[in-house]
Amino acid sequence: MHRSIATVSLSGTLRQKLEAVAAAGFDGIELFEADFINFKGTAADLRRITADLGLSIDLYQPFRDFEGMPEAQFRRSLERAERKFDLMEAMGAPLVLCCSNTSPLSVNDPALAAAQLHELAERAARRNLRVGFEALAWGRHTSLYGQAWNIVQQADHPHLGLILDSFHTLSLKDDPAGIAHIPGEKIFFLQMADAPLLAMDVLQWARHHRSFPGQGDFDVVGFFEQVLRAGYTGPLSLEIFNDIFRETPNRRTAVDAMRSLLYLESEARQRMAATPPVQPQRVELFNPPPVPALSGLSFIEFAADEASAPALETQVKQLGFRRIGKHRSKAVTLYRQGEINLIVNAQPDSFARQRFDAHGTSVCALGVRCDDPLAAVGRATAMRSQRHDSPVGPNELRVPAIVAPGGNLLHFVPEALGANGLYEADFVLDDAGPDAGPEAGHEGNDAGLQRIDHVALGLALDQLDTWVLFTRAVLGLEAGESLELADPFGLIRSRGVANAERSLRLVLNVSLSQRTRTARTLSVTGGGAVHHIALGCADIFDTAARLRANGTRFVPISDNYYDDLATRIDLAPELLARMREAGVLFDRSAAGDYLHIYTESFEGGLFFEVAQRVGSYDAYGALNAPARMASQAQD
Ligand code: MG
Ligand code: MG
Repeated sequence: MHRSIATVSLSGTLRQKLEAVAAAGFDGIELFEADFINFKGTAADLRRITADLGLSIDLYQPFRDFEGMPEAQFRRSLERAERKFDLMEAMGAPLVLCCSNTSPLSVNDPALAAAQLHELAERAARRNLRVGFEALAWGRHTSLYGQAWNIVQQADHPHLGLILDSFHTLSLKDDPAGIAHIPGEKIFFLQMADAPLLAMDVLQWARHHRSFPGQGDFDVVGFFEQVLRAGYTGPLSLEIFNDIFRETPNRRTAVDAMRSLLYLESEARQRMAATPPVQPQRVELFNPPPVPALSGLSFIEFAADEASAPALETQVKQLGFRRIGKHRSKAVTLYRQGEINLIVNAQPDSFARQRFDAHGTSVCALGVRCDDPLAAVGRATAMRSQRHDSPVGPNELRVPAIVAPGGNLLHFVPEALGANGLYEADFVLDDAGPDAGPEAGHEGNDAGLQRIDHVALGLALDQLDTWVLFTRAVLGLEAGESLELADPFGLIRSRGVANAERSLRLVLNVSLSQRTRTARTLSVTGGGAVHHIALGCADIFDTAARLRANGTRFVPISDNYYDDLATRIDLAPELLARMREAGVLFDRSAAGDYLHIYTESFEGGLFFEVAQRVGSYDAYGALNAPARMASQAQD
C-alpha cells in the first residue's frame, strides 16, 4: 500500500517532520494546513523539499465549514476554496479534505449540502483536483460515514468522493460493516487512528488522545478490513492528534507510525484470509514472518558496576539463588533457582554500560524462550526493530537479540537447547555444589522460587504507547486493561501485556507525576527500565519464611490493610491471620487468587516481588500497589 501520515501527528518544524517521515520509509504525507501556514517557504519550496525526500503530498487538510450553508457564506467559501486550490496546484497536492460542517450557521439539508459539494467538486475538476468529504464525529448535521456517503452519492460528481477516518466511526460506536458496500473508487482517502476507550467529550478525545493503530482499544483491524473489502486501493494514512506525540522526538514517533501500519496491514491480511467471503487481494498488504511462539522468560541480566555488584549479589543470594558459574570470557556471573536464571554482568565495557553510561544496578537484558529465535528476529526487524549482535567469544553461542524501546536488549533463547544448553555453552559451571565457595556464609538456601511471573517496567510517559505497540506487533502479546493506581505523590498508569498462554507477562507502568517513586526510578535509569521483578512460587508462606531466614527484608504492610481486606473479601480467619503475620498482600478475581509480597528495594530503586497464583487469576495485584507505594513512602 501507499503509506502516508498527517504532519499533525509529529512534533517539530515542518522540515523536521518531513525528514523523520521520509527516514521511516513513508511514501507520502497529508499536509495539515497549520504546518504550511507557519512554514517560512512557498508552496513551490515545499513541493521541492518533499520531492527531494521522495514524499508525495497526498492530501491537503482540512477545509472546514463548507457544506449546507446559506448562499452568502457559500459564495465566500467558494472563493476561499479557490485560494486553497491555488496552493494545492503549486505544491502538487491532488486532494483536499472537506470535513463536515460544525458551524451553527449550517442547515440540516442533505440536498443543499450535496448541491454545494457538487459545485466545489466542479471548481476542483477545472484544475484536475479532487475533493474528499469526511464525516466528523462532532459534525453538526453529518457525523456518520453513512450520512456523508449519502451526500456524496446525491452530489454525484466524479471529482467528489468519501474520506473515511476510523476514529470518527469507532468513537461513535458506529458499525463499519456498511463500508464494504461502498464502491472502492468512491473512497478517496483513508485515515486510520486508534484510541484508548475513554468516557469523555468526543471532540476532546479526538484532539488529545488518538493513537496509532495497535496502541489503543478500537477494532482498527476490523475497520480497515471493511475498507479493503470495499475494493479501496488508495493511500493508507495516519491522522493522529495526541498531546504526547506533539512533544515526543519525531524520529521515534515516525518509526512507531510505520510499525503501526505494518501491523495493521499484516493483521488485516490474516483476518481477511480467515473470514469469508474470501476476496482476491487488490493491494499488497505487508506480510512479515509470523509471530514467534514465546514461552516465558529464561533469564534476566543485570548490569552492575564494581561498586554495586556485591550488594546485588548479596540480595540475589538472600533470595535463595545459587551461583552456577562464571562466563567464559566476561565478568559475568550466573545464578539460578527453579527455572529462573539471573545474570550479573559487571563487565566494564558491557553493552549496557556503554549504551546508558549506567551507574549502579539496572536490568540491561531479558532472555525470552522461543521456538525459533531467528524467525523471531526476522519478525522484529520486519516490524522495524533493530537487531543487536554482541561480541561472541570462541565456542560461545550467539543468542539472537533485538533492541527493545528504550534501549534494553531482548534475547531470544532457543527452546531446543533445554534448561542448561545455553548456559553450558557460555558459562563455566561450578561443580562444587550449592554451599561451596568463600561466600557460603551469604549463600541463601533455595526458597522455592520457580519461575519469573512478570517483569514490571517503569516507562517515561511518552514510551507507553510505543511499548504497547512493540509488544503487540513484534512479540504478539495481548494488552490488558489500563489501570490508574494511586502513589502518595501522584498517579501511576499500569497495563499488563502477556502471551496467550500467559507464560510471558510484562507490566508497563507510567508515572503521571514527577514525584512518585516510579518517576524517580526513571530519572536514575534513563526512562525505560525494569522497575520490579516478580518471581512465582507454589506456597508463598513457606517461601516468604525461607526468604526471611535468608535475610531478605520485605516492605511492611499496615495492619489497617488487613482490617480493610476482611471487609472487602470473605476470607477464612486463619488465612487472614497468616497473611497479616507474614505481610502478604491478597487479591481475588472471579478466576482465582493472587498472594504476593514485595522486597525492600536496593540502590536504584529496583525490587523483587514474590507471587503465588491460585486458579486462573490473570492480573498483577495492582489494587495492592498503593499499599506498597504508601509503605515505601513511609520508610
Ligand atoms: Mg480525519
Ligand atoms: Mg508486580
